[in-house]
Amino acid sequence: MPKHINVALDGPAGVGKSTTAKAVAKKLGLIYVDTGALYRAVGVCVLDRGGDTEKAEDVVPVLDGLKIEIRYIDGEQHVFANGRDVNGLIRTPAASKASSDVSKVPEVRAFLLETQREIARENDCIMDGRDIGTVILPDASAKFFLTADPAERARRRVAEMKEKGMDADFDTVFADMKARDLQDSTRAVAPLRPAPDAVLVDSTHMSLEEVVDTICRMIKPSVN
Ligand code: C5P
Repeated sequence: MPKHINVALDGPAGVGKSTTAKAVAKKLGLIYVDTGALYRAVGVCVLDRGGDTEKAEDVVPVLDGLKIEIRYIDGEQHVFANGRDVNGLIRTPAASKASSDVSKVPEVRAFLLETQREIARENDCIMDGRDIGTVILPDASAKFFLTADPAERARRRVAEMKEKGMDADFDTVFADMKARDLQDSTRAVAPLRPAPDAVLVDSTHMSLEEVVDTICRMIKPSVN
């Protein structure tokens, strides 16, 4: 079977990975895969059961018999947990914290690994996350690590939340984001860091169009 185009896009919270990846996907005819949504879904399942997401002993049993799936509805990614569409529940601040907590647990990462690799095996895709280039798709066709100044990232996240009609206060978002970045980059398993062969893109002073064009230009030779 011919190898599919697999693009890895990693980076910290609020850097604009999903907006960028969606635009790149549209331009190049790839499927967009938001892997953070999988960790968010697991986090929400733990909270649903009244568990403490900071305690691995509350998290691991939730994986038993759990089925997490990605389906595309009208071109939009939806995550299902045991057949239930949880997309409406995974974007709250509590779900963000829960996702970062559960993502530290090695059993959770192992549990979600094959789901991600299977999608990449079967589709031309751009996958965004924290460890796509380092762990999930080490042989990706192209790898990017998107960064931006933390205050700029918080501003982008506040704008995104307000656009979705959510309450968003800069100081709270900034503090939550820094806490999540620290936890994500210092965890023992698959910490947030660029793959040695990833292209670093600092988007602090770049428009979305510039970032998308930069990435598309670098992917194109492998797509054509
Ligand atoms: O990308 P998003 O902010 O939705 O991710 C939520 C959380 O899931 C991150 O803070 C991170 O802890 C975790 N995550 C991860 N590995 C990925 C994607 C997300 O650990 N590939």
